[in-house]
Amino acid sequence: MHNQPQYDIVIIGAGPAGSNLARLIDSVRYRVLLLDASTMRVKVCAGLLSPDAQRLFDRYGIVLPQDIFVDPQLCSVRVIDLAEPCVRHYRRSYLNVDRTAFDSYLRGLVPPSVDVMQARCHRIERIHNGYRLHVHHASDKQIQIDTHHIVGADGASSLVRSTLFASQNIQKYVAIQQWFAAEAIDPYYSCIFDRATSESCSWIFFKQGQLVFGGAFSPKGCRVAFEAQKRKLIEQGIVPAHIFDHPLKTEACRVSRPHLHNGIYHGDRSAYLIGEAAGFISPSSFEGISYALASSEALAAAFNSVKDDSDILRIYRKKSSRLCHKIRLKCFKRPFMYVPCLRKWILKTGLGSSKRI
Ligand SMILES: Cc1cc2nc3c(=O)[nH]c(=O)nc-3n(C[C@H](O)[C@H](O)[C@H](O)COP(=O)(O)OP(=O)(O)OC[C@H]3O[C@@H](n4cnc5c(N)ncnc54)[C@H](O)[C@@H]3O)c2cc1C
Repeated sequence: MHNQPQYDIVIIGAGPAGSNLARLIDSVRYRVLLLDASTMRVKVCAGLLSPDAQRLFDRYGIVLPQDIFVDPQLCSVRVIDLAEPCVRHYRRSYLNVDRTAFDSYLRGLVPPSVDVMQARCHRIERIHNGYRLHVHHASDKQIQIDTHHIVGADGASSLVRSTLFASQNIQKYVAIQQWFAAEAIDPYYSCIFDRATSESCSWIFFKQGQLVFGGAFSPKGCRVAFEAQKRKLIEQGIVPAHIFDHPLKTEACRVSRPHLHNGIYHGDRSAYLIGEAAGFISPSSFEGISYALASSEALAAAFNSVKDDSDILRIYRKKSSRLCHKIRLKCFKRPFMYVPCLRKWILKTGLGSSKRI
């Protein structure tokens, strides 16, 4: 005789993907638990809401509160190639937000019918009719939670993915960011390429009077490459030397990069992945918030529409097919940004760029 699990669905991770799923899922029909290791975590992020993320909030009828926005707001991306001194501007409108305040606002939208727990899940076991989670509760207690369905919304270093779907690899970079005191020199979002130090990209942006320099690097030698890029930015007069003298904060984390034929994984049986845990993130710009929202919306729609549990995964795949298609399209377009000769050609011709006067 087996006991009934306490929950129908446990969502691990209350970032944008987990919180949005908990908000949209029918929590009257399902007993849902949302658990996250921290209440007010500071996520390593640029905190820029892309036009796609803005469109989703518009569709949800959510007006983001004023107190999550920070200065400056950005309407242009400056592309810099350090190897071929060439700079171009492209029109693109981002909302600059405080990422901690943004995540905490989204968590606040989770209805009271969803149980919320501050706890870190450190082990997952398959049991007869679902999963047993071993969690370290904020009160320092070790507890076990049984559930029929498990959702990994636990980001780039997903425990759900590495435990239940260990063979589903995805390429990872190390993202490093440093914050410096600075008056806005040029309040752009700058996207930086340097083929000598990184096969990926780096960025500079401003937030509340601070300059943030960051980049995604191959794990081996990432810190050396990061410092080399800082030196080049000084040498090429892009950042004045004194600004880089005293970092206020250094942060690092893993960031996923899906490829054309691998990286994205929706799940199996009654375990599902959403957001960055599933590989839903732009392979070119690492923009991931809109992907987290859209994939969680697709899984919520699957849960809410099915009569038979065995159909959830099929419907989730179907409803997220546009998102997969968008990632594939970006994989095709990626060489135009990342292959040096193609990038040089695009930047030299100024294709799609905006003129400065
Ligand atoms: C340097 C950097 C800059 C970026 N800048 C942008 C940007 O400007 N705009 C943009 O759109 N995207 C950006 N991204 C990508 C974006 O941050 C992610 O794609 C997005 O946060 C993914 O959301 P998520 O909900 O899937 O995962 P996350 O936001 O990573 O949330 C995962 C949650 O799971 C919790 N968790 C993890 N493991 C466990 C566990 N074992 N038990 C309990 N809880 C757990 C964590 O505490 C966390 O709250 C950036 C990424 C990086 C690395």
